[in-house]
Amino acid sequence: MKLAKIKLDDLARHCLARHREERSDVAIHSKPTMHTDPNCIFCKIVAGKIPSKKVYEDEEIFAFHDINPWAPVHFLIIPKLHIPSMAQVGPEHQALLGRMLLLAPKLALQEGVNPYPEGGFRLVTNTGTEGGQEVHHLHWHVMGGPRPWLRG
Ligand code: 5GP
Ligand code: ZN
Repeated sequence: MKLAKIKLDDLARHCLARHREERSDVAIHSKPTMHTDPNCIFCKIVAGKIPSKKVYEDEEIFAFHDINPWAPVHFLIIPKLHIPSMAQVGPEHQALLGRMLLLAPKLALQEGVNPYPEGGFRLVTNTGTEGGQEVHHLHWHVMGGPRPWLRG
């Protein structure tokens, strides 16, 4: 009886995995993270409820200028999905994170950082309170431009 139950569980897991493989859009959102959080500032920015200076947008990713810049160029790259921080990312977010990373150098140049190697930029993601995170929606800071900077 117990064996039969285990086999049924395995079957259910297998079917769910197949379903997710077939529906890659579902796989992206399969973590028990909320799709959006109504109390989250960055979810509100993605939804256009709080205005922002947009740098980039596609179906999964949004980028906008930081309201309190530390450097001549300072913008944030965020997933539209409400992932609280890097502490919550998993294998199902791999493609999304890869796309965010690949966007950083492109958008940095687009927003006016000087080219590598004399120019360049910093890519920072604060994680958790001791990591200096204030807004708990995953974001990567992209900072660049001629020094000195205010901070960083
Ligand atoms: P953290 O400290 O969490 O890594 O960074 C959060 C960043 O979000 C800060 O640099 C802060 O200036 C920025 N920020 C907070 N609220 C807003 C906002 O309403 N609009 C924009 N554009 N940036 C914000
Ligand atoms: Zn959010």
